[in-house]
Amino acid sequence: MAQRVLVVGLRATGAVVVHWLRARGDAVTVVEERPGQAAYAERRAAAEAAGVTVIEGSPDWSALLAATDLMVPSPGVVPRHPAMLAAVAAGVVVRGDLDLAVEAAKVPVVVVTGTNGKSTVTTLISAMLEAAGMRAPAVGNIGRVALDAVESDAEILVIEASSFQLHSVTDTFAPAVAVLLNLADDHLDWHGSFGAYVEAKRNAFRHQRPTDVLVADLDDPLVAELASGAPGRVVGVTATGFRPGAISWTGLTLVDERGSSILELDETVRMAPHELANIAAAAAAARVMAADAVAIDRAVRGFTRLHHRTELVGKAGGVEYVDDSKATNPHATLAAVRGYSSVVLLAGGDSKGVDLVPLASVADRLRGVVTIGDTPEEIEAALGAHVPTVRAASMRAAVRQAAAMARPADVVLLSPACASFDWYSSYSERGDDFRREVEALLAEGEMGPNEMGPNEMGPNEMDPNEMDR
Ligand code: ADP
Repeated sequence: MAQRVLVVGLRATGAVVVHWLRARGDAVTVVEERPGQAAYAERRAAAEAAGVTVIEGSPDWSALLAATDLMVPSPGVVPRHPAMLAAVAAGVVVRGDLDLAVEAAKVPVVVVTGTNGKSTVTTLISAMLEAAGMRAPAVGNIGRVALDAVESDAEILVIEASSFQLHSVTDTFAPAVAVLLNLADDHLDWHGSFGAYVEAKRNAFRHQRPTDVLVADLDDPLVAELASGAPGRVVGVTATGFRPGAISWTGLTLVDERGSSILELDETVRMAPHELANIAAAAAAARVMAADAVAIDRAVRGFTRLHHRTELVGKAGGVEYVDDSKATNPHATLAAVRGYSSVVLLAGGDSKGVDLVPLASVADRLRGVVTIGDTPEEIEAALGAHVPTVRAASMRAAVRQAAAMARPADVVLLSPACASFDWYSSYSERGDDFRREVEALLAEGEMGPNEMGPNEMGPNEMDPNEMDR
């Protein structure tokens, strides 16, 4: 039955949503409060050509919702947004784009969520299933809007789900497989509290049927606790040694619930503990979808780390330079630092209301810290009492200050624990800038950066030794 639908936001997701709703015959109105972003004019024209009513600016939400059966907010629309509050007050059903996609999908769906590792695991699962001969694209928060793929020839949809998208789901949201990787403070400014964030993540599996599967990383105590109340079958994974009944690692061999080998990693491939956890979770999900060990093994061997996730971008004088710009919360930074024994850390930026103090738990692995971003005090408050800390005024300065601190066998690691929006428009721009500055530094001479003394630093650079705290 045709419905009157109000879509909030006409950006990448909203544009797909309005066309999908029109195609099924709904009467669609879309509101864009801040028109004028890139590609907006094209989106507006296409929506209008499809018979969608486009409203720009901030409308009288209550009046609009009085004539609305269903509201679809874009992922960026926060729960305290007037549209959300008005929808609740008017008793209008609110469904996010993923909720529509999972219900509309004619093929099995795998939904991947967690604070960190979503993109990596989504990509891995897709690769494992494709290696097993299935068409299983990675969609959702990772790139292609999931609704855009429900009419494709995909045989399985592997969907990365953000907490924003999971906030607005209904009881139809029952993916065949849900994957919950980990839960830590993130996006508290969006959700309002950690409790609300966790409840959104729980929606990934809350409405599953008994025959559906939840893959849960049991090394995360909160994930394990939530999994114990899951309505579906739970497949546990762990990266902390053999555990019968779970998918686990014995040394570099990933084994199934009974200890039979699924895959064996090459000794020369260095993997941090969180990467082992990601592989285990991906393999567990792929196995539920009938991928065999050969396919899983092939996909892992062919996998290269995604850009800006502990990605090696340079090496000189025994020092490795690693771009982990995607680490936009402390949980991700902790995982990255734990992958190395001695680190010079570049961190800071927009903390999104998240407490950075947990970073102190890896202080013993840090040779020093160079702060980036506009609020260095927050990183200093977390680490300054334990580790030499210097402030950088630019990425160029930060890379040089870090190089001056590093000793052979150290890792200079950009893993900011914060969003990038004070200095950059995205984490990828921040990571690209880091790589550029590392390459510029390494190109400057035969001399390894670790041999470079303070005197070789550029005019804007501070002497780290004077800034030690
Ligand atoms: P997401 O899509 O959830 O942001 P990514 O795969 O893009 O996840 O990785 C985001 C950041 O989290 C990166 O800095 C990465 O190194 C780190 N990370 C990846 N997997 C994990 C994990 N299982 N636990 C903690 N940190 C992780």
